[in-house]
Amino acid sequence: MIERDQWEWLRAAATRLSLQSGIPVDLKGLLRQLRIDLERSTSGAPTILTKPSPRSYKIVLAGSRAGSREELSSGDRFAVAHEIGHVLLDYEFGFRPTNRRHYHAAETLCNAFASWLLVPDASLEEVRIKSWAELPRVIQRIHVSHAVPLATAAHRVADRFPKLWMCEALRVSANKRPRPLRIRWTVGNASLLDVVQNRRITPSHLLSGFLDAGSWPRRLSVAVNGTTVRVYGFRLTPSRYLLAARSPSAVSVGKS
Ligand SMILES: [Zn+2]
Repeated sequence: MIERDQWEWLRAAATRLSLQSGIPVDLKGLLRQLRIDLERSTSGAPTILTKPSPRSYKIVLAGSRAGSREELSSGDRFAVAHEIGHVLLDYEFGFRPTNRRHYHAAETLCNAFASWLLVPDASLEEVRIKSWAELPRVIQRIHVSHAVPLATAAHRVADRFPKLWMCEALRVSANKRPRPLRIRWTVGNASLLDVVQNRRITPSHLLSGFLDAGSWPRRLSVAVNGTTVRVYGFRLTPSRYLLAARSPSAVSVGKS
């Protein structure tokens, strides 16, 4: 079972390792230091961690779809950092999940470890968001400077400002009207807006106002449980959108 001290130990380890390394975290250096081998899968298999001998580990990274196989994409970096979390759990606690619940707990913890390692608290302490318009810029900046997926950057910003809710929506290329949006990820208080159902929302639902012609960013007022919540929409690319809101009790975006 994952205990509280395992969370705290991994959190402290992530902080220490990222501090040693600098930003963006030098994952290849870290793998050398921890004596973990890294290999790229040649099949379509997902990333796995193997233990060729009692004292060695090997990460077999899912094959890359595009680009150089040597370079780690931001998604690869998250996957590698996640597996380092498993290695540390095994090193320090001899932790091996024995049932489904333990497995899920370990996955959650290793995902958290990966975000703590790649976007340390020290980076977040410097984050200031004075207006909604700055939010997508801050997230994109962390995404680039820390070489992490956009979702990881958003997650960490939501850790810093816990009342913030965000999702990335993708315009699905379809001839259907209204044209559906697919939610790639949500962070923060997902119950705030019920858009995760089926991971699809349609313009006729919440986003009708967002997808009509007009300028970006834009704001929409949505009734949630008798309160009006302002949802802010930003266009990241012509087909990708960042939607953000704060829980109704909150006043301004930058308050934690
Ligand atoms: Zn895992």
